[in-house]
Order: sequence, then structure tokens, then C-alpha cells
Amino acid sequence: MTEKLIDLRSDTVTQPTPAMRAAMLDAPLGDDVFGGDPSVNALQDKIAGLLGFEAALFMPTGTQSNLCAILAHCQRGDEYIVGQQAHCYRWEGGGAAVLGSVQPQPLAHQSDGTLALSDIEAAIKPDDAHFARSRLLALENTLGGKLLPFDYLQQATQLAHKHGLARHLDGARLFNAAVAQAAQTGSDAFTEARRMAQCFDSVSVCFSKGLGAPVGSALCGSRDVIARAHRIRKMAGGGMRQAGLLAAAASHALDHHVLRLAQDHALAQRLADGLAGIHGLQVEAPQTNIVFVDLTGAAREQSGALLKHLADHGIQATGLYRLRFVTHLDVDAAGVDDAVAVIRRFFHS
Ligand SMILES: *Cc1c(COP(=O)(O)O)cnc(C)c1O
Repeated sequence: MTEKLIDLRSDTVTQPTPAMRAAMLDAPLGDDVFGGDPSVNALQDKIAGLLGFEAALFMPTGTQSNLCAILAHCQRGDEYIVGQQAHCYRWEGGGAAVLGSVQPQPLAHQSDGTLALSDIEAAIKPDDAHFARSRLLALENTLGGKLLPFDYLQQATQLAHKHGLARHLDGARLFNAAVAQAAQTGSDAFTEARRMAQCFDSVSVCFSKGLGAPVGSALCGSRDVIARAHRIRKMAGGGMRQAGLLAAAASHALDHHVLRLAQDHALAQRLADGLAGIHGLQVEAPQTNIVFVDLTGAAREQSGALLKHLADHGIQATGLYRLRFVTHLDVDAAGVDDAVAVIRRFFHS
């Protein structure tokens, strides 16, 4: 057993690396509310360029980034079509409805994480005074660690476009998706990220997940969408001053932490392989850096006891609705192997 805590709760738990901290200390700063922070401006140019958009806006959180996007695309009384498990529907306190009077139209996911094209089409309301105005399709990639197929992204966004809807991608883990997609196609991750992003009118990316920055997201879109989002960000209290300190960390992450996401994906696979065959555990094959595990049969009620057993052995995971293990910059193969051993001991297997 290592003495080190092994934190598999989320890829948000990473500490900035020494090189990232150095980049933060070196960052030239200004007041970003006046548009005068060179490090923020450089980051915004970099991410917009990488993903093929005219403009980008640095955001304190992914939640605020999604909120600003939805409110930039929709007016009061409009609705956005979204998945039941999507972060910007289920996990953001209902912000679009609460703060923007924008109604969600949630749809059930298919087992691969997609929303059926026929369900999307059926949910788009005709122009009739009975209905909210269908204005936006919001997708997420990866969704619960699942990679949405590129063909699907194209089809769904073309369908939305045909009906006059804007398209937003919650790409909190877009680069995980891109790295996984690149492994399948043999292309490179940045090309894949851009190809996926270009199906959408706006894309939100988190730097504070697998990319390992302490704070921050970016919203990318046309100049027009970003100008509207900029106004909403200020209203939401997201106008930050010498934010270049944080933007420098995000920039460093884009330069150094994208391709290494493949290591997190390999570790997730290692964890899933290690847990395979334990009686009472059903492990969902990971596509990126998230492993979901369900307890079955007699073990069904034991998730609390298992999480406590893990915590007693210095391993943290979450069980909000399913047991979830997330790999990231601050876990290694030894940590994953420890977690497997501790879980095996719990099941005496
Ligand atoms: C984490 C996450 C967000 C929100 O990010 P915060 O910075 O925690 O607000 C949005 N969407 C998805 C898919 C996420 O995983």
C-alpha cells in the first residue's frame, strides 16, 4: 500500500504541476474587465483558434459557461433540447430556467449516450402560441465518459440546423473525446477536437477537469454569440480582473496536458480490467477516463459500505447514483492497482 491518498472522485481534484505554477507566476496581468489582461486575451485567442471559432471568452466555471451560452442563444420563453443526464440540465441547479427563464426540454438518452434523432425531431415544437419556442440543441461530449460518435454529432447538429435551432456543445471533456476519437481514427487529437467543435455554434471547454488547471473554462463561438455571452457573464458576476493568473494555467494545460489524456484513458481501462470478474460488480467498459461500476445481486445495497472501506484505505470515489472512479493527472498505475486490490479484498475475491 502507498501512503498517498488516491482520489478517484473526479478529474477536478488535481493540483497544478510545478511547471503550471511557474507559468502562472510568470503571466503578464491586466484588468480583464477592461479587456486588458494579456494572458486572458492570449488564452482566448488560442482556444478559439484551436477549435476554429472567431472568438472565445474565459469563464470561471463550466456551469457559468453553459449558462452564458444558453442565455446567449435563447430569450425568455424559449427552450433548449437537452439530455436527461446532461450537465447543463441536471447538474447546474436549473440555472437556465431560474436565471434566464429558458425552459429545458429534456430527452432520455440511448445507451450510447446519444439522443435519438427521432426524439429530437419530435421535441422540436411548431410555431404555435401553445408552445415554448424551440431554439437550441445542447449536446455533451464526452457524456458520462462516453464518446458520442462523430457521425452522430454531424447528423444531430444538421437536424437542429434544418429546423432553425442553434447548437451548443458542453465540451467540458471535449479533449478527452478528441483523444479517444483520435485513437480510433489515427488522426490527431487537435484535429478531432476541431472537427467535433465545428458541428456547433458554441462550445464550452473546461480546463479544470482532465486538463489539470485549478480553475476555468472557455466558451467559444462567433463574435456575435461571444459578445452576448460577455454581457451575461458580467451580469452573472463572472467579470474577473487579473484573471491572467488563471488563464496562464489553462494555456499551459492546452500546451502540455492534452495528449497525455491518453494515459488517463489507459488507467481507466486498467482499473476496469482489474475489477473484471468480481462477483457482485458490473463494470461498464470505459471509453475515456471514467469508470462506472454497479453493484449487483446480494451486493446491491453495499455501495455505502464499499465506499467506506475504500476511504478507510485512503481511496476516494463517489457513489452519487452509481459508483464512479475517475482517472487524472494525479493518479498513477500503482494507485489504480491499490484501488483494485482494496476492492478485491472487500469482495474476498
Ligand atoms: C464539470 C462539468 C461542467 C461544469 O463545470 P464546473 O466548472 O464544475 O461548473 C459542465 N459540464 C460537464 C459535462 C462537466 O463535467
